[in-house]
Amino acid sequence: MGNANDQCLFCRIGRGEIPCRKVYEDDEILAFHDINPSAPVHFLVIPKRHLENLYDADLAHAGMLGRMMGRIGELARSLGATDGFRVVVNNGRVGRQEVYHLHMHVIGGPEPLGSGIKRT
Ligand code: 5GP
Ligand code: ZN
Repeated sequence: MGNANDQCLFCRIGRGEIPCRKVYEDDEILAFHDINPSAPVHFLVIPKRHLENLYDADLAHAGMLGRMMGRIGELARSLGATDGFRVVVNNGRVGRQEVYHLHMHVIGGPEPLGSGIKRT
């Protein structure tokens, strides 16, 4: 293939080249448990198609972004986050993004998370 995404960690997870603990998958998106969870429920939702972050998204991506968001509630509930959760998207250097493939963190658990706006 030889494109820039060959070595992207989350593209590789999306292609099944690197294993993950899968939560949900369809043709367009994949959800999997974060390897270093910051709460009892902590999974990531990614598009299989590579976008670095929301700087790369425009209205052409609205359907895909909506379908990502539209799955999160049922997935969080199925994993036991039945009384609330956070959705966090870190973007770029200032957002302290570490993996440059768009992902939504879904963070929750049985007890309330720390207060305030908090990084994952
Ligand atoms: P960011 O700071 O980019 O928003 O967060 C990246 C997240 O990806 C981190 O929470 C980190 O624990 C998670 N992560 C990094 N590498 C892997 C991996 O190989 N597998 C899984 N499942 N999660 C990963
Ligand atoms: Zn990627």
